[in-house]
Amino acid sequence: MIDSLIRIVRWTGPYRWRLFLGCLCSFFMTWATAAPVVIGAWLLAEVVEDANGGSPLDPSWVWLSFLAIAACVLLRFAFSYGKNRLQESIGYEVAPEDRMKIGNVLKRVPLGFFSEVSTGDILALATTELGVLELQGMKMVDAVVNGYVNLLAILCFLLFLSPASALAAVAGTVVSCLALASINRASQRLAPTAHEATERLAGGIIEYVRGLGTAKSYGKSGAAEKPILRSVERLKDARIAIEFGFTPRNVVHLIAFKLASVGVIACAIWAYAAGSLPLWSFFALLAFSFTIFSGVEKVNDSAHMLGDLGDILDRLEKVEGAKRIDEDGQEAELSEHDIEFQDVTFSYDRGKGARKVLDHVNLRVPEGSTCAVVGPSGSGKTTIANLMMRFWDVDAGRVLVGGRDVRELTCDSLLRNFSAVFQSVYLFNDTIESNIRFGKPNATEEEVRHAAHRARVDEFAEALPEGYRTMVGEGGAALSGGQKQRISIARALLKDAPIVILDEATASIDPENEALIQAALTELTRGKTVVVIAHRLATIEHADQILVVDDGRIVQCGTHRELLSHEGIYRRFVEIRSAAEGWRFR
Ligand code: ADP
Repeated sequence: MIDSLIRIVRWTGPYRWRLFLGCLCSFFMTWATAAPVVIGAWLLAEVVEDANGGSPLDPSWVWLSFLAIAACVLLRFAFSYGKNRLQESIGYEVAPEDRMKIGNVLKRVPLGFFSEVSTGDILALATTELGVLELQGMKMVDAVVNGYVNLLAILCFLLFLSPASALAAVAGTVVSCLALASINRASQRLAPTAHEATERLAGGIIEYVRGLGTAKSYGKSGAAEKPILRSVERLKDARIAIEFGFTPRNVVHLIAFKLASVGVIACAIWAYAAGSLPLWSFFALLAFSFTIFSGVEKVNDSAHMLGDLGDILDRLEKVEGAKRIDEDGQEAELSEHDIEFQDVTFSYDRGKGARKVLDHVNLRVPEGSTCAVVGPSGSGKTTIANLMMRFWDVDAGRVLVGGRDVRELTCDSLLRNFSAVFQSVYLFNDTIESNIRFGKPNATEEEVRHAAHRARVDEFAEALPEGYRTMVGEGGAALSGGQKQRISIARALLKDAPIVILDEATASIDPENEALIQAALTELTRGKTVVVIAHRLATIEHADQILVVDDGRIVQCGTHRELLSHEGIYRRFVEIRSAAEGWRFR
């Protein structure tokens, strides 16, 4: 429990001092609460003595006592306000910074990271789990630290009034601490199962929504729900197991305090009867016996929750501590933009027996030239493009861009030189204009319109009721495939990077859209270093260099004319393509 608390305190980083000052406020707040009890007990004892014919009570003392009590009440509220102002908002300030940190880490991890940590894990961490931490983290520190600070403050009074009562209170506290430690351990043991179930549920829902169309078209939407229902069951079981582990330990914790309260009263009666305790102290001890544990009694929920928070912190540290792919990279401007692979070998799954996806690949794309990469599906074409942009790191050999090994550069300074247009276009749930502007956030409106014009976006955007301010819907659902492609080309045109990576669409788009996309691509690639994963004969024929990839190796390299003049995979490929393109409906 203490370990989780220390980690939460560490998590607050630069706001830590506010946490400590808040605890100090809490300590004085308790004294301001306890002082009226002592004053009241003294006043009551004086009244009793007066009534029993003892020394008469001077009325000015009564007024002074009431004044002192009122001052204590005011002080209590001042300290309480100070504590809340200092502590309560810390979680809300730290969590957004963490979300930004997660975003920055995700930008810079190798893509292999996402095979270990699923989208569901990351979604659950950045939303639900961090939400729990931001909401509960400070509440836990308040409940536990301030709970014990309060107890300590009252123990000081007790020690002064009756050391035996203080001892009884300490004994109860020790037993309760043992029960709490046990609650915390049980919760830490069971929390990972619950969190895993939450993450699976998040991942399952993402998959369900993504695959709903396919599932419906096969009349299988019921089957698609099954993984979600399984996750819901697992989550329910995990939560119930945590609750069942909690109950018996919680009973021990509460009984320890009740017995300790009885102990405090018994010690007070015994000391008063023996004549060693004045009447006012007896009254004060009776009053304290009811309130001394009120703060720490609620710590049971916190011990339970702290186990959970410890597990969330583990996950957060795992993601934030993920090795950045460009940790040793330098910021640099590239003056040249040719691309070279020197004896590159690569596999997605590292380790023994991993299948080589690229095997001793050598290639060179001179600056300003167009290189078409062709080959059967799964031969490694996309992998070649991904390695150029350092989405992954090679196992052996070197990838050079502008003469620099890509590992020497930061991702930002490398990717500044690339524009990529993929087959599956991703559009943000925003306006057409914002989606284009993504290529150059500080672009003027005129620049955005110019890029849109060159990419033939204006032809449909201007006909829409809200023009460029039309929302494209989540994932760009409201637009046709060809229109989305043109927006992504406008985005790349606006970025105006010297190297263009193109993944040509395999599925044929309607002829009109295809002609418009081709026109937009011609604009995009003019004067650039272009690497195109090519499927269309027209693109391949006009390339300066064609690389034929088969099973992770470059098996042929040359111009269209050179390659056609030899028997081989390229000639067969062209024959099949010509036949396929001849089959098109016009
Ligand atoms: P192509 O673009 O020629 O169709 P890819 O480069 O996409 O081929 O894939 C080459 C091989 O690498 C394929 O066998 C594919 O299954 C595998 N592969 C691609 N991406 C991944 C990945 N993220 N994790 C593991 N294997 C992958």
